[in-house]
Amino acid sequence: MEYLLTTKNLSKQYGRQKAVDRVSLHVRKGEIYGLIGRNGAGKTTLLRMISGLAAVSEGEISLFGKTGREAGALRERIGVLIENPGVYANMSAYENLKIKCIAMGANAKDEIEKVLKIVGLEDTGKKHVRNFSLGMKQRLGIALALIGNPDLVILDEPINGLDPQGIAEMREVLEMLNREHGITFIISSHILEELSKIATKYGIIHKGALLQELTREELLERCGEYIELQTPDTERACTVIEEIGITRYKVVDAGIIQIYERLQESSGIVLRLAEHGIQIKGITVKNEALEDYYLNLTGGAANA
Ligand code: ATP
Repeated sequence: MEYLLTTKNLSKQYGRQKAVDRVSLHVRKGEIYGLIGRNGAGKTTLLRMISGLAAVSEGEISLFGKTGREAGALRERIGVLIENPGVYANMSAYENLKIKCIAMGANAKDEIEKVLKIVGLEDTGKKHVRNFSLGMKQRLGIALALIGNPDLVILDEPINGLDPQGIAEMREVLEMLNREHGITFIISSHILEELSKIATKYGIIHKGALLQELTREELLERCGEYIELQTPDTERACTVIEEIGITRYKVVDAGIIQIYERLQESSGIVLRLAEHGIQIKGITVKNEALEDYYLNLTGGAANA
């Protein structure tokens, strides 16, 4: 599949600090790419370089298969919402979009009505943005990024501060744009749990470096469900587990075994263990929280 955007060893130096450190990102057409990293990890700086809002210190950006000047010219195919989207609080959504259209030389009326409808703000009329809910403001931010018919839309922390309802609405809008308008997205967040409700691919950034890129399937596999058994007799229990034909299991602690396959058969497994006289103190089906996976990868909460 075609890459819409790649970066090769992209770096940004601020004085002595490397805010972005040799990041090689791979975004395919049609993806909703989630860039996850804590506050200060370098997400905004990376997105600003990709969008052409910050100069590149080192490395290369390839857009739609082109690099250098040719890539620069293709930036008009990117819609961007980074940090404060420059929204005028004393104006309506329509007026805000009109200003953006004028700045971009886009055909205002048709374009504005189209994007307002897409993000579900078509009925806000003359209502000033300062009276919008956070979710509405975020949708206006997306509408602003959509002016000019972009192929790639970059949204920095679009779900930050939204309640579950707001996140669900945001997901609907992004999925619809992705599905029906073929728009590829890069969205950043510092909360993997929230991002996971939307993104199809993930890039994990920590202290400026990209630690991992993985698909939603890979992420779910790594954060998958498992059976946790508590038994004082782990050694014999493992023998029985292997006899049953289970290979994907691990003794994680004294007296605790985690089994990563045949999750539907937990009662059968317990029965077999009991038949061998093995005492079971507890059995639960657990799910490694996404947040734990992410924290482990980035060195635990203490390292925040
Ligand atoms: P946040 O979610 O808090 O915005 P982030 O992951 O987007 O975090 P960046 O804003 O990219 O992180 O910041 C990365 C690092 O670069 C931080 O340590 C920040 O202080 C530093 N930094 C960012 N912009 C500048 C700048 N203009 N001058 C100097 N240092 C900067």
